[in-house]
Amino acid sequence: MPVLQQTNTEKAIALEDKYGAHNYHPLPVVLSRGEGVYVWDAEGKRYYDFLSAYSAVNQGHCHPKIVGALTTQAQTLTLTSRAFYNDQLGRYEEYVTRYFGFDKILPMNTGAEAVETAIKLCRKWAYEKKGLAEHEAKIIVCEGNFHGRTTTIISFSNDENARKNFGPYTAGFISIPYDDIAALESVLATETNIAGFLVEPIQGEAGVYVPSEGFLARAKTLCEQNNVLFIADEVQTGVARTGKLLAVQHEGIQPDILILGKALSGGVYPVSAVLANDDIMNVIKPGQHGSTFGGNPIAAAVAIAALEVVNEEKLAENAEKLGTIFREKINAYIAGSKIATLVRGKGLLNAIVINDTEDSSTAWDICVAMMHKGLLAKPTHGNIIRFAPPLVMTEEQLLSCVDIIIETLKQFEQ
Ligand SMILES: *Cc1c(COP(=O)(O)O)cnc(C)c1O
Repeated sequence: MPVLQQTNTEKAIALEDKYGAHNYHPLPVVLSRGEGVYVWDAEGKRYYDFLSAYSAVNQGHCHPKIVGALTTQAQTLTLTSRAFYNDQLGRYEEYVTRYFGFDKILPMNTGAEAVETAIKLCRKWAYEKKGLAEHEAKIIVCEGNFHGRTTTIISFSNDENARKNFGPYTAGFISIPYDDIAALESVLATETNIAGFLVEPIQGEAGVYVPSEGFLARAKTLCEQNNVLFIADEVQTGVARTGKLLAVQHEGIQPDILILGKALSGGVYPVSAVLANDDIMNVIKPGQHGSTFGGNPIAAAVAIAALEVVNEEKLAENAEKLGTIFREKINAYIAGSKIATLVRGKGLLNAIVINDTEDSSTAWDICVAMMHKGLLAKPTHGNIIRFAPPLVMTEEQLLSCVDIIIETLKQFEQ
């Protein structure tokens, strides 16, 4: 605390710039406190957070129930490793599997680790249950995907920035256009050795691309017909963000493998998970996968509290309701706008597309202007701005945020 009180925005930015790797390009705001839908900067100015740490803080900043679980457990037992049992993990495993409707969970820490785990699980299942020849398994992925930053994951990214000069790449992935059921059907018909289809139910990082209605359900059916695992990466879309507990529930489907992270802990601790039923999960035997911190007692206690908050405060219902209002209001503005061309999304995962070239700085400039007006959002790719506030927002707060967004857009109309 004393350190934070002595600093100011300029000093804090200068320190990061000098001593930290330059792997991010943040907005020039230094945050020092958060509560609910708000964050405060080093000078005490208050902002609405419309990023929610990439949808990790769905339950709102510093939620007292989640922070309470964290501090209590931190004072009791923090880490045992999985060399021994701990008294929180089993309790969490029962809770989370019932919550999402799977037989088993494999607990990890970050989203990328959970994606890696899902890939390994899918491959092992393909060799041991589907009977593919070793080293031949292929996983279908989608163009524009974002699944994290490990060497294997960036191997099947088509974002040059994420990939270039990080090779050699991991083999075994086939990329198809997103939201293209014919492409999926054709790969499944022509390629042998397909083990899985890895997909984001909405592509968040790419710019909040919502697939056509029916795409996910048809993809699931195609996977079933071809004995291929449907793997949903819900690290960003899961845990009530899109107006349902899981985004796949908009299409009434249950994936074979579910990947969760981010809001699984409400953003207070790194907690991720892979969920699947026994016929899949049981291919993993002792010594074949693991993580020192995965399934630790703090993570277990925090995740239970974070998921309880989602139910107790009806966050999915609130996201659904506020999301509809947000898109209605923004759409009404866009009808007469030259600077904004469309708004898209589900629940409280939305994006506004700015009418300028991909490499223009307009979206960035709009975000800086919104920052000055007390609202923090960030461009995703090029000219797209994502709007994803904590799901504990009230309707009144949302309406004043819509006013800020529209006022700012107006400044950029010519
Ligand atoms: C953020 C994200 C990840 C990676 O999570 P990390 O915790 O940053 O490793 C994976 N998949 C999706 C869809 C994400 O949004």
